[in-house]
Amino acid sequence: MLRWIDVIRFTNQGNPEPDRIVRKTDEEWRTQLTDEQYRVTRQKGTERAFSSPMCSLFEPGLYACVCCDTLLFDSNEKFESGTGWPSFTQPFKPNAIAYHGDISHGMYRIETTCNTCGAHLGHVFPDGPKPNGLRYCMNAVALKKVSKHLQKAVFGGGCFWCTEAMFQQLKGVVSVESGYSGGDTVNPSYREVCTGTTGHAEVIQITFDANEISFEDLVRIHLGSHDPTLLNQQGADKGTQYRSIILTHDDEQKQTAEKVIAEMQVGYEKPIVTEIKPFQAFYKAEDKHQNYYVDNPEGRYCQMVIDPKLQKFRTLFADKLKP
Ligand SMILES: [Zn+2]
Repeated sequence: MLRWIDVIRFTNQGNPEPDRIVRKTDEEWRTQLTDEQYRVTRQKGTERAFSSPMCSLFEPGLYACVCCDTLLFDSNEKFESGTGWPSFTQPFKPNAIAYHGDISHGMYRIETTCNTCGAHLGHVFPDGPKPNGLRYCMNAVALKKVSKHLQKAVFGGGCFWCTEAMFQQLKGVVSVESGYSGGDTVNPSYREVCTGTTGHAEVIQITFDANEISFEDLVRIHLGSHDPTLLNQQGADKGTQYRSIILTHDDEQKQTAEKVIAEMQVGYEKPIVTEIKPFQAFYKAEDKHQNYYVDNPEGRYCQMVIDPKLQKFRTLFADKLKP
């Protein structure tokens, strides 16, 4: 969860790396956008307060950049600020938005832009609601509501630094979080999970758009991207916390997982030992474990262990990768 201190850090020390970058010529933006969208997003304009019905729209869904379709906000984080502009407390992902100091109009403010395409969105202020206190004050014209068929999948296949890095690359995967699941300890820490006594496995929670990638495909990719015949071990990592596991949300996911395992068993001499267990809870891991590979590309573990795995993954599932 981002706080004001993070916003200041991004503004002063550099913005987070986006998942992708979209660049177009001014002419291309002009052709693609309406006059008002162009004026606001590409020329740092501001729409009239209360000019959009989006301010009072609170139905579930996601908001994307009107220029490049990158997901920027979730309606769960939207609140009524009374300002006349749609307001949110958090971006959809920490790297969705970029921050810049803005001294126009005789004040110091922090401007927000789409981190993917540079579209001007609005400003962010430290007077939002608890717990994190942020108010992203957005131009409605810079956003568009998108209907996605979002579902969740929870998989364990060894170290989550590795599995997160792989699944982040798939088309239709909206977000990946590293955490713990499959055990009984409530709110376990990394250190506790490492002891192997919590019953939890290191897992990733994947949010995906079922219109773009199916749960079945994800299971197939999950099993194909680690060794599902190894019991409580992947590579040099040993212990029940590294076991191969699929946590299922309903009967349909369970049956799909069983079907794919049976299909893939044909390709292995040893039995697939992947555990299928009903999902109960996902405990998000500490912040330093999130987005680990992207944030630590120079790290020894990333270069020695994750890089080769990722290369293999990209070859195996080339047709499923984000552009
Ligand atoms: Zn954009």
